[in-house]
Amino acid sequence: VTKRLQGTEKNVWVDISKMAVENKALNLGQGFPDFMAPADIVNCLKEVVSSSDLMTHQYARSFGLPRLVNALAKIYEPHLGRPVDPMTEVLVTVGAYGSLYCVIQGLVNPGDEVIIIEPFFDCYKPMVTGAGGVPVFVPLRPSKEGTVTSSGDWKLDPEELASKFNEKTKLIIVNTPNNPLGKVFTRDELTMIADLCKKHDVACVADEVYEWMLYDGNKHIKMASLPDMWERTVTIGSAGKTFSVTGWKTGWCVGPKHLVHCAMVVHQNCTYNCPTPIQEAVARGLELEMSRVGSPDSYLTSLSEELRPKRDFLAGQLEAAGMRPVVPEGGYFMLADYSNIKTDVPDGEEAKDFRFVKWLTVNKKLTVIPPSAFYCDEHRHMVENYIRFCFIKEDSTLEKASKILQGFK
Ligand code: PMP
Ligand code: GLN
Repeated sequence: VTKRLQGTEKNVWVDISKMAVENKALNLGQGFPDFMAPADIVNCLKEVVSSSDLMTHQYARSFGLPRLVNALAKIYEPHLGRPVDPMTEVLVTVGAYGSLYCVIQGLVNPGDEVIIIEPFFDCYKPMVTGAGGVPVFVPLRPSKEGTVTSSGDWKLDPEELASKFNEKTKLIIVNTPNNPLGKVFTRDELTMIADLCKKHDVACVADEVYEWMLYDGNKHIKMASLPDMWERTVTIGSAGKTFSVTGWKTGWCVGPKHLVHCAMVVHQNCTYNCPTPIQEAVARGLELEMSRVGSPDSYLTSLSEELRPKRDFLAGQLEAAGMRPVVPEGGYFMLADYSNIKTDVPDGEEAKDFRFVKWLTVNKKLTVIPPSAFYCDEHRHMVENYIRFCFIKEDSTLEKASKILQGFK
């Protein structure tokens, strides 16, 4: 590969997903539902593909099908507390991955520094280095010990964060609700980050793909809704996460014209546009959701209610198995400390959590994700006693996992 891609060859999803298949293991690794997508969104797509409108099957507008960018602007306006121009302030991409790539490639010059909060969704790092940028890492640190703790106990040290900002800092990436931790950043925490952005004239990439999955009354606050943050924030979302259709690979970014324009330039020179039928179906799905705000059939609110008992079941089973779950406030992943579990994991060069995940997959037929993939090399040791579980799964899948876990005792 080219020089700028060197060091980015390894990918946790490629390696772990392959291992799960080869070992026919129960897969609580990569995050995707193992149940049928909601009927309403599937019906939207069915209607779209049976439409007689010939343009359904032809190229869409480069930056997003008008019906979809309009729906996105409308759905976000109340949460942002301002109007959104669908034509200049919204871009539709292939997944949230596409938006992350376009934003980072469009905004980061060689030598620019990008602050990344650990644990981070792994692609941020190769996307930054691939643009010639320099990632600067700052970890969330657990502030409590115990058998069962909360993702809310993981916090930034404000002084440590402040020390990472300098005249080279271009961006900070903030992921709330966070993958893999499930932390939902509070208004105070976001304000602390926003104040640093304003002080040092830094832009913010707010990865909010899990914005609708929240538990225990936690509220999702959009970074872009904080005072004077709209001008410097690009917010990223995903239809795959929003409607439990990860295979539809449709995402977007929303922000001020001067920032979204930079992402548009990358997009128009890369994939140029996204599949029309999927965009049309997502637009219809969002319109349906807007007509259901506050009603019990709103998928955006009922999904969390469906997920909460799954989260609680998994946390209970992990605790019973002798692990220490970090109960997430949002999203659909859970970290658990497995260091009390007795195993015969072989020694090796690789990080301990990677060796444990391999052992678990091969010997116990259960696959999870080693979270040190979400840390820089220097900080990997901070999570080598943890593994990440995905719980957007059928109850029967979680019960099978529980049987395997109880077998450890
Ligand atoms: N950001 C985060 C935090 C994620 O967990 C994911 C899941 N893959 C993405 C972005 C990418 O989403 P998509 O599947 O829409 O590309
Ligand atoms: N976001 C999902 C996860 O963290 C999927 C990752 C991926 O598709 N690479 O598991």
